[in-house]
Amino acid sequence: MTNPAEILGLPKPAWAADEVGMLYDMASRFMAEEIAPRYDEFEKNETFDRESWLKAGAAGLLCASMPAEYGGSGGTFAHESAIIEAIGHVGVDGFGIGLHNSIVAPYILHYGSEEQKQKWLPKLATGELIGAIAMTEPGAGSDLQGVKTRAEKDGNHYKISGSKTFITNGQLANLIIVVTKTDPDKGAKGTSLIVVETDEVEGFERGRNLDKIGLKSNDTSELFFNDVRVPTSNLLGDEEGKGFVQLMQQLPQERLQIGTGAIAMIERALALTIDYVKERKAFGKAVIDFQNTQFKLAELKTEATIGRVFYNDCVARHIDGGLDPVTASMAKYWLSDLQGKVVDECLQLHGGYGYMNEYPIARMYRDARVQRIYGGTNEIMKLLIGRSL
Ligand SMILES: Cc1cc2nc3c(=O)[nH]c(=O)nc-3n(C[C@H](O)[C@H](O)[C@H](O)COP(=O)(O)OP(=O)(O)OC[C@H]3O[C@@H](n4cnc5c(N)ncnc54)[C@H](O)[C@@H]3O)c2cc1C
Repeated sequence: MTNPAEILGLPKPAWAADEVGMLYDMASRFMAEEIAPRYDEFEKNETFDRESWLKAGAAGLLCASMPAEYGGSGGTFAHESAIIEAIGHVGVDGFGIGLHNSIVAPYILHYGSEEQKQKWLPKLATGELIGAIAMTEPGAGSDLQGVKTRAEKDGNHYKISGSKTFITNGQLANLIIVVTKTDPDKGAKGTSLIVVETDEVEGFERGRNLDKIGLKSNDTSELFFNDVRVPTSNLLGDEEGKGFVQLMQQLPQERLQIGTGAIAMIERALALTIDYVKERKAFGKAVIDFQNTQFKLAELKTEATIGRVFYNDCVARHIDGGLDPVTASMAKYWLSDLQGKVVDECLQLHGGYGYMNEYPIARMYRDARVQRIYGGTNEIMKLLIGRSL
């Protein structure tokens, strides 16, 4: 197959050179050799296994942007981008290490005490701990102020009760950052993030591994907290009530990371489709010889190029600490919308074979859909952008 990383023919941005480029190559090899051969099994089981996480940890693919003193590789978001791009280019999109690396671990690095960092980050880096973040509840998705999960202080413990749903890595995760209300009367100011190490507590239950239309191999679950007791030292931050601010501060990276998955899948879809239309014959010629095919692919390649240039600029700004929440929302919404469009058009160019699961474009079509929903729906992104007008 044509290399998705080269399909747009663009020069590499400065942040993707040297060691980041080497990490991309290494991660691509790992995904192709260790994960891709077992991917159908994970899709069928609707979950990865712990062994794959431990192998990714041993290969240095977990916590790449965490400092070396906490077991990470001391990189930046550029390193995380390289890993997520490798996942997308190889086509093992259900491997939930993007969330673990660039969402869960950073909360602990940025808001954790020294003791918390030493306790949890090295194990997140080896894969002994698998991370998840539990914000969404049956009654609170877009509007996180409606979270009902309660954390009540009881001596030197919190007692957590409530339920969460749609939680990525929910069947395997054993370190879960739970969005709770420590003071329900204070609205957003009564929200706190508390870490639950599920192996250490009683009263924690995993619900169903939810039956999704795509991203089958990624376990997505309901979680139940029935008076789960954790030490008060599991609070993230030096005082209660900071949870909402912490969430808002981390959202730009979470949103940019969805853009990473989007641009990587766009490039893979183009590479696969260009190969396909060169091979497939109709009316005595290759499908690529029809002007419609060329025009369609010309449009998609142009839009993908615009998307990649925008994405690269966002990463450069993020590494310099200058990616504002509005631009991150633009990246999430625009790139995931473009992903949906490109994958749909590419499937069309495959004809009936595009609808068959044995062709990768079929799975990409199912996997792409959720990108417009999670991490804040694209409507919420437009709301945030609208506020800046
Ligand atoms: C596969 C998957 C994985 C997920 N992983 C996680 C995870 O790891 N952790 C986690 O906490 N959550 C996770 N989620 C949850 C996800 O973030 C939410 O589904 C999402 O934020 C939307 O919330 P909701 O489903 O309650 O939709 P709702 O909030 O009920 O929205 C329904 C519709 O109304 C629209 N809408 C809502 N408010 C407004 C408004 N003010 N203006 C205009 N339109 C509006 C929405 O855009 C949407 O179209 C995941 C979801 C999925 C599907």
